[in-house]
Amino acid sequence: MNSTVYNLQEQSESFYPALVTQKRALRLLAIFAHPDDEIACIGSLAKHVRQGGEAKLVWLTRGELASQFGNTAPQEVATIREMHGRWVGNAIGCDYSFLSFPDSGLTGGRDEALSLAKLIADWKPDRVITWNPFDVHPDHRACYWATLSALKLCRIPKLVGTPHRKPVKLYHYVHQDLNRPVVHVDVSETMAITEQVYSFYQQVYAWNWTVENLRESRKLMGKELGFHFAEKFQEVNLVAVEGLPA
Ligand SMILES: [Zn+2]
Repeated sequence: MNSTVYNLQEQSESFYPALVTQKRALRLLAIFAHPDDEIACIGSLAKHVRQGGEAKLVWLTRGELASQFGNTAPQEVATIREMHGRWVGNAIGCDYSFLSFPDSGLTGGRDEALSLAKLIADWKPDRVITWNPFDVHPDHRACYWATLSALKLCRIPKLVGTPHRKPVKLYHYVHQDLNRPVVHVDVSETMAITEQVYSFYQQVYAWNWTVENLRESRKLMGKELGFHFAEKFQEVNLVAVEGLPA
């Protein structure tokens, strides 16, 4: 991939800056479209919590149209998948919530962005992780755009009340066509929880990709920087024009 691979020490600091010296624990918010989208950042969320930070998972939909559930009514699927999300949140030890947008109906537009902006203004994250803007699922792409817009709208008091105007770093899942800085997170210490969560979903959905496949992929990512296991993200530059306020 033609992108910058940060020095591991710098990157570690960038993603997990000095948690213990902060006045409050740093907050990492993960925003996704459907329960199970979070699999690629489980290790990072769990590590953040383990290091004393706070993490929150937000899903824009309940994923009620998942085809694996056959003829089960969408409302029932929504209830089951919400339970899955709750189980994952509890396994990681993080907060979680669902917004009420329709599965496969996300647009990345103002309604979704404003809902997220209010949530962001309320919870005040320091770091945000979301989907990449080029994923094949339209809900995943929309999730990225709604999140990006929300990080602007959350700064406007007339929209959100008390705004969140502190700098936020935005990361997304890696996409090979994007030439953005790559961040490796050493998730060796939380690989067990990642495997536990993946195994849970893998059994529910009978995915072909096994826990061993997952472990191998994390090992390959880790190998790039000398970690046992890693997760990878790309960082978005949220500054429109250098030197001007955001
Ligand atoms: Zn999804």
